[in-house]
Parts: sequence; C-alpha cells; structure tokens
Amino acid sequence: MIRIDIITVLPELLESPLSHSIVQRAKDKGLANIVIHNLRDYGKGKYRQTDDYSFGGDAGMVIMIEPVYKIISKLKNERQYDEVIYMSPDGTLLDQSISNSLSLKSNLIILCGHYKGIDHRIREHLITKEISVGDYVLSGGEIPAAILCDSIIRLIPGAISDETSALSDSFQDNLLAPPVYTRPASFNGWEVPKVLLSGNPKLIREWQESQSFERTKKLRPNLLK
Ligand code: SAH
Repeated sequence: MIRIDIITVLPELLESPLSHSIVQRAKDKGLANIVIHNLRDYGKGKYRQTDDYSFGGDAGMVIMIEPVYKIISKLKNERQYDEVIYMSPDGTLLDQSISNSLSLKSNLIILCGHYKGIDHRIREHLITKEISVGDYVLSGGEIPAAILCDSIIRLIPGAISDETSALSDSFQDNLLAPPVYTRPASFNGWEVPKVLLSGNPKLIREWQESQSFERTKKLRPNLLK
C-alpha cells in the first residue's frame, strides 16, 4: 500500500483525475491511499491566508512558508516519509524510471505550487525532490501531481488487471510499445497485420518485438543509447 499526501490550494482540481479508472480501482483494492489536503486549512487569520506578495516587487503572489511548514510537520509527526516532492517546471523531468522507483515507496508528500510559485525556503529546507512534467509552464502543480500519481499507481502490482500489461507499455525496457489493433480485422479495406490473426504466439511476439524496436529507432532513437 502506497500513501500519497497531496498539498494544494485547489483540491477540486485534483479530485476528478484521481477518482476514476485505474487509480480509483487501486484505491478500492487498498493498494493506494491518496489524501488531499487543502493548504488553506493551515492558513493564517480570518482569510486563512496562504499566499503573499513577493519580496522585490515582482508581479504575482507567492505561497507562504508558514502554512506549508505546518502541514508538512504535522504529516511527518504521523509517519515517516520517503520523499517530499515539489512539482516545479525547473525540476527533474519526469520519466518512467522516476515513476518506477517512486512506485516502490510507502509514503510520499507532493506539494503543488500555484501563482508565481512558492517561497524558496520551502524548497531549500523541506523539499527532497523536485519534478517537472515538461519544459512548459502550467498555472498550478495540481495537474502535474495528478500525472505523477497516475504514472506511479498504475505500476503497483494488482492495479492493472493484467499484471504484465504495465510492463509491456512504452518506456519499460527503453522501448516504445508495438501498435495494437482490435476488431474488426478489416475496415474500409484497412487491414490488421496478418501475423496478429495467425494465432501463433511465437510469431506474434517476434513481430511485436521488431515493431517496438523499429518504432523506437524511428521515433525516440535516444532511448536506444
Ligand atoms: N514562476 C514559476 C512558475 C510558476 S507556475 C517559474 O517560472 O518557474 C505555478 C506552479 O505550477 C508551480 O509552482 C508548479 O507547482 C506548477 N507547475 C507549472 N509548470 C509545471 C511543470 N512543467 N511541471 C511541474 N509543475 C509545474
């Protein structure tokens, strides 16, 4: 069972992406527990303030260290965490090997930034890992956090009904997945490759392996290095 605590100022953004399909099934089966925390509950004063103007006068609000420190300290008092992750455009680019290794952990905290970002002292003193979902900027860390959780949880044994299915996906073994087809075998005169209809598992596997290799060579040659 993996437990993931997500800290956000916009819990609504996370609820739907983490309540369907494989992720929901993993939660139902007790393989994953995702707990979403509203940072606002730890904010100060009548307005439960969580952000403030940035020093130096740049435009845009910055998430404050106090509420983040409060919630992270509270969680750390309750259990031992393997990583405290901040979703950030300047973090390490997420790839399958990061997801593989995080899927073996027991307790993770994911902090979502918003607005202009978070007080840098949070990153210096509280965060152990920074992850980006790509070289572009989004409005908040919630969608990146959902991407990270989905990619981790589908790897947990039992989350996908066919155990081998996650292993045959792209990027495992540094290869892209082979093409897949379903009925009908002929549509508009567009045919499914004959070998897939042959019923010969050995031939099919060989065809899939060569397709994986060819597609990787053509589309992602850097994976083969
Ligand atoms: N001013 C920051 C961007 C802030 S975007 C900068 O230029 O680097 C607001 C929040 O969205 C960030 O705090 C981060 O949590 C999230 N975010 C935006 N783009 C992201 C990306 N590519 N990967 C992960 N998180 C991202």
